[in-house]
Amino acid sequence: MISSILPTYNRAPLSFVKGEGSWLTEASGRRYLDLGAGIAVNALGHANPALVAALTAQANALWHVSNLYTIPQQQELADRLVEATFADTVFFTNSGTEACELAVKMARKHFNDTGRPQRTGIITFEGSFHGRSSAGIAAAGSEKMTKGFSPLLAGFIHVPFGDHDALRDAAARHDVGAILIEPVQGEGGIRPVPDQCLKGLRDLCDEHGLLLIFDEVQCGMGRTGKLFAHEWSGITPDIMMVAKGIGGGFPLGAVLATAMAADAMTAGTHGSTYGGNPLACAVGNAVMGIIATDAFLAEVNRKAGLFRQGLEALVAAYPDIFEAVRGSGLMLGLKCRAANTDVVKAGLAAGVLTVPAADNVVRILPPLNIPDEDIVTGLALLDKAAASMAPA
Ligand SMILES: *Cc1c(COP(=O)(O)O)cnc(C)c1O
Repeated sequence: MISSILPTYNRAPLSFVKGEGSWLTEASGRRYLDLGAGIAVNALGHANPALVAALTAQANALWHVSNLYTIPQQQELADRLVEATFADTVFFTNSGTEACELAVKMARKHFNDTGRPQRTGIITFEGSFHGRSSAGIAAAGSEKMTKGFSPLLAGFIHVPFGDHDALRDAAARHDVGAILIEPVQGEGGIRPVPDQCLKGLRDLCDEHGLLLIFDEVQCGMGRTGKLFAHEWSGITPDIMMVAKGIGGGFPLGAVLATAMAADAMTAGTHGSTYGGNPLACAVGNAVMGIIATDAFLAEVNRKAGLFRQGLEALVAAYPDIFEAVRGSGLMLGLKCRAANTDVVKAGLAAGVLTVPAADNVVRILPPLNIPDEDIVTGLALLDKAAASMAPA
């Protein structure tokens, strides 16, 4: 008999009743160190007092009015994002998937309205993840996500990760309008795109008149130690998808764009009932106020150095279980020799939450403000987990 919850997830038999900072507690009282942060969502930890205050103040004032009216919290958050990035304009969504939908629509409308309607093609990369909607799964293209869901949204050209020749050939096609890429692949196994490759993508887009779209849903919002991951490369996209960390645990996403890329998105061309609602934007403003500061990002980089050093030592200590550390900032991956799902399970038994990814990787995505002592504890718990797997 089917369960009352559609069984699309393989869930761990754990259920939490309380969160505080980097810790989660079960009803039994057992505590777990959360190095997954709700898949890079709880960027400022659980029950962060500043976010709780912002949410409850807004909850007591006004929840929802719809986008038929001006929403000051939304305007403020858009102004902050525009001020802090390449973007001239922002549309708010409730999730990363919805941001993907708009990014695809925006690119196609741009070419349609500027006399190049054949440029509907969007180049994407093997191993990518852009959400589970029809556009998202067609964009990623992996059989695991698309099988049985035909007909798929047309127009995505899938290029192997790191295959420069295939990329150059695809970019030269007359039916291509955009390149969509995660600066650091998350679900694909914490695979950073080297800075010189992001620069090369920008050059390729400029050469062929293509729009460059970054999916920073997982790698953005301070995760890599810059506000957005692409900032390390010195280049900027034309369109960017944001979600996960921007709401710090409250559902919120956004599409950021230059005026040029967004030029065709006029009144009536897109919408969302809940997108940019007062509750989400009140929290988003609080998150931005904390993360988008040099001092906070400097701390992320310092903590990332500490964590990475400890993980390198872990890999050296357990060469039969781990192969390498990869990633950027506090978006870290342990490439495993043992099955990554076994490592995650051993972690649960030891009292530490991690997240599996493709390519046999275990993701370490802690809150960005994880205290140093929790990093030390986390490394000790991961060591305990590895020791429990090591042959006696
Ligand atoms: C999580 C994720 C998405 C989808 O976001 P949802 O909020 O789950 O819809 C899209 N792109 C990337 C890179 C992600 O990590």
